[in-house]
Parts: sequence; structure tokens; C-alpha cells
Amino acid sequence: MGNREIFDQVSDMEKQIGELYEQLGDLKGKLSDLLEENHRLAVENHNLRHHLEDHTEAISEKTATKGSGSSKGSHPGEGYDNLARLYEEGFHICNLEFGSPRRNEDCIFCLDFFDKTK
Ligand SMILES: [Zn+2]
Repeated sequence: MGNREIFDQVSDMEKQIGELYEQLGDLKGKLSDLLEENHRLAVENHNLRHHLEDHTEAISEKTATKGSGSSKGSHPGEGYDNLARLYEEGFHICNLEFGSPRRNEDCIFCLDFFDKTK
């Protein structure tokens, strides 16, 4: 390989390095744009999440106060609901025959219970 060819190759490499350097600069610019946008989206996401939490909190507070404030388990109507379901399923809930099957007949004593509690 002559001196001339070596010189040409080095010039080519210099040119390529120059182009790469330019591309690197472009990419760096794009990267900083992306980082900026990413940061902006992260802040926006954070704010929206906060907003959503406030919103859902307000909603659950609203529904909590609507339901007479008592938690389940200690709900006064729960026992009644269970008995009503038992009656619907065909069992006596009256004192006389509690727990025995009704055989599809209405029982006045059971119905009396409903009247008392309604
Ligand atoms: Zn009954």
C-alpha cells in the first residue's frame, strides 16, 4: 500500500468520524428532548394520580355516609336479611318451627316476624 492510499484512507476515516460526531450530536439532542418529555409526563402522571385519589376518596366518603355509617358485620339489618333469606329458601324462621322446611306453605308466624320487623 502506497503512501498516497494510506493518506486517502485516513482522510476517509476522518470524514466518517466527522459524520458520526454529527449524528452523535443529533442523537444527544433527541435524547434530551425525550428526557424532558419523559419528565413532563411523569409530573403530569403524578398530578393526575393525585387528582384521581382525591376524587375516589371523595366518592367513597360520600357512599360511606350514605350507608348510615355503620360497617358491615355490625349492621342491624343483617340478622333480618339472613332470616329473610332462610325463609325464602323454604324454612321456618318463627319460634314454633324454626329451621324446619315450610313445604312451600306460608307460615303466619313467620310472616308475623316480617311484619314486626318491617
Ligand atoms: Zn313458621
